[in-house]
Amino acid sequence: MLTLAVQKSGRLTKKTLKLLDECDINLQNGEKAKLKTRADNFDLEILFMRDDDIPEVVYDEIADIGVVGENVFLEKNRDVKIIKKLGFARCRLSIGIPKDQEYNGIQDLDGKKIATSYPEILKSELTRRNINAEIHEVSGSVEIAPGIELADAVFDIVSTGSTLRSNGLKEVETLSRSEAVLIGRKTPLGKDQKTLDELLFRINAVMKASNRKYILLNAPNESIEEICNILPGMKSPTVMPLAEKGWSSIHSVISEDDFWKNIKKLKELGAEGVLTFPIEKMIL
Ligand code: ATP
Ligand code: ZN
Repeated sequence: MLTLAVQKSGRLTKKTLKLLDECDINLQNGEKAKLKTRADNFDLEILFMRDDDIPEVVYDEIADIGVVGENVFLEKNRDVKIIKKLGFARCRLSIGIPKDQEYNGIQDLDGKKIATSYPEILKSELTRRNINAEIHEVSGSVEIAPGIELADAVFDIVSTGSTLRSNGLKEVETLSRSEAVLIGRKTPLGKDQKTLDELLFRINAVMKASNRKYILLNAPNESIEEICNILPGMKSPTVMPLAEKGWSSIHSVISEDDFWKNIKKLKELGAEGVLTFPIEKMIL
C-alpha cells in the first residue's frame, strides 16, 4: 500500500485533506483520525505527524510520500525529491528589521546577528549573496528576538507581514519562497508506483480545473465567431441552436482571470444569460 505522511494539525492539514477529497479518495474517519487512517476506495494509507518529521520518515521509508512546505523540505535537507508542487500554502521567507532602522540593501546585513528557525535556508541564501552574518537559531517566536536584543534582524515566514508589524518590525528583503510540495523517496516504490501514478493523474486533473470555470451563455448568431475567439475552450466551444430563431447557446471553459477580463466584451457582442459553474476535474 502507498503511504502518505500528512501534517497532523497545522496550515497544511486542511488543504491536503481537501485535495484528497477532490481526488475522490475517501478516508476512513476523515479528519477525526489521530495517527493513521486508510482510504476505503484507494490503495493508500495516511500517517499524521508534525511537518518537521515528514522529510525524515519519507527518507527512512516509513512513508513513501509526504506533503510539506518547500521550506521544510529545504531546511531538513534529507535525500528525498520533490514530486509535484501543489500550489497552496504559498509564503515567502524574508528578513525583518526594527521598523525605524534604515535599510539600504542586502549588504546592510553584513556582520549582523539574525534570528531564525530556518538556519540552513538562511545560510545558503546569504552565502549565495556573499553576505557574512551570524545566524542565531531559535525554535519559535522568532519575531521577539530583536526586541529583547537577542538579534539585529529576523528571517522568517511572512504572508501578510502583520506578525512582523505587530512586533515592531518591517520586511526588507525576501530571500526565498515556498509552497506546499509532494515529496517522495528516491528509491524505487515497486508495485506502489502504480498507485502513485494514479494519485498524480488525479491531482493533475483537480489542479488544472481549480481556477477554471464552465461558462454557458446565449448569443445572437452573428456574434458566434467572435465570441468563440474569446472562449477557445478545450478543443473548441460547443454551439447549439436555441428554440428562438437567430440565437445560439455557447458552452466553453474559461479561466477565472479571463472571465473577468472578457465579460464586458462578451456583453457588447450581445451575450445574455451568462452562467458559470465550477469544474471538478479537467483532463486534456
Ligand atoms: P507543526 O506543529 O506540524 O510543526 P508548524 O507550526 O511547524 O507545525 P505551520 O505553522 O502549520 O507549521 O505551517 C506549516 C507550513 O505552512 C509552513 O512550513 C509553511 O510552508 C506554510 N506556512 C506557514 N505560515 C504560512 C502563512 N502565513 N501563509 C501561508 N503558508 C504558511
Ligand atoms: Zn513544524
